[in-house]
Amino acid sequence: MRGLCSEVRHGRIVNETAPISNYKIVKHSPQRKPYLCHSPLSMLGGTIQKNKGRPYTAGPIGSVVVARNAPRRQVEKRPVEKCHSQQGLNQITGTDMTLWQQYLQPKTVTEALDALAHSPESALLIAGGTDLLLDLDQGRHPPVHTLVDVNSVREMLPIEIRGDELFIGASVPHSNIVASSLVAEHAQALIEACNLIGGPQVRNTATLGGNVAHALPAADGTIALMALNAQAEIASSSGGARRVPLKEIFLGPGKNTLAKDELLIGFYLPLKRKSQASAFERIMRPQGVALPIINMAIWLARDQDQIADVRIAVGPAGPKPWRASSAESILRGRSFDEKTAARTLELLLQDAQFRTSPRRASADYRRHLVSILFKDTLQVAWNRAL
Ligand SMILES: Cc1cc2nc3c(=O)[nH]c(=O)nc-3n(C[C@H](O)[C@H](O)[C@H](O)COP(=O)(O)OP(=O)(O)OC[C@H]3O[C@@H](n4cnc5c(N)ncnc54)[C@H](O)[C@@H]3O)c2cc1C
Repeated sequence: MRGLCSEVRHGRIVNETAPISNYKIVKHSPQRKPYLCHSPLSMLGGTIQKNKGRPYTAGPIGSVVVARNAPRRQVEKRPVEKCHSQQGLNQITGTDMTLWQQYLQPKTVTEALDALAHSPESALLIAGGTDLLLDLDQGRHPPVHTLVDVNSVREMLPIEIRGDELFIGASVPHSNIVASSLVAEHAQALIEACNLIGGPQVRNTATLGGNVAHALPAADGTIALMALNAQAEIASSSGGARRVPLKEIFLGPGKNTLAKDELLIGFYLPLKRKSQASAFERIMRPQGVALPIINMAIWLARDQDQIADVRIAVGPAGPKPWRASSAESILRGRSFDEKTAARTLELLLQDAQFRTSPRRASADYRRHLVSILFKDTLQVAWNRAL
């Protein structure tokens, strides 16, 4: 079996242009076993390197792939059969899968909600899988019975103007957002955020809905949406769709308020008017690929030399994606000058809850960086709003 690592989605090799034996396993599971490549993340994250020898085998859809030279007891190959369910959904059932047993691909929101509601055991939504598969693989999430893939749900794919708002479907991958002229016109901060997420392969797969639903306080797309005053549209199997301000979706790090039978359909953003603009900036560790040390998005409306209105979102500055509401109130109705910016920053630093994270940065370093980020981002948004 041959496969191309860059064309793997949900553990499936979908393109066959390079021998898989060109890749070697360079990452080990926490138990120091050879890394199981049933997650695309090992590849998207750059943990598979090319042309270093050490061949390994691959099987059909859903197979677990491990190093050929691994000790015998660690080598597994688990074929699965592909079939269609009675509802007409594509369904892939595994005989002995460890991370999930059923994979459904609904085409509409109703089908997706039905799949969630009627799963015999635990069911989860999956979009790009760039967060979820890692969580399943690394044991941060217990194995799940059914995965409901929302990548083909038609109501979750548009980017379009609806009335006086911009709608972005939850299943839109970051690369489509970056390429959208509508988003460029109305939500520049979101383009800038999505364009920095992971590398091209992650951006082609990972979605805005997944970024929000994963509920991390420094998720880049989420921080941009917070400053852009986004509302989320949520569908529930118990009845219809409703809209909520984005901040109501977050419960704590990695936890959202969505019920088990709910999903995010998409996000509504107010259209950009004259003299309004937004900007996003972040600071990463030099070798960082995932979340930033600190990020910030600012939206503002100008009235000549005054800031008529402003929204500032910062991550991570608390357990949830955070708006610096008190600091915003200092800027509103004031002229844009150094003194006002300094007073605003003082209040922002007073309210933000920066924490020390072992792999990224200390709370003090974050406090230091946010000062620089704030001045830069504010200046860029101000200049753009001319
Ligand atoms: C190498 C690498 C680099 C990364 N770099 C960054 C980065 O720079 N910045 C950043 O912010 N993130 C980064 N990430 C994290 C991740 O790519 C993003 O958070 C991504 O947007 C998640 O989207 P997804 O479609 O892959 O979500 P999935 O993994 O499919 O899902 C994530 C969670 O959301 C739920 N979910 C998905 N869709 C919906 C929906 N429509 N409604 C309700 N729940 C839903 C799933 O059940 C799951 O709990 C990186 C990840 C990797 C692997």
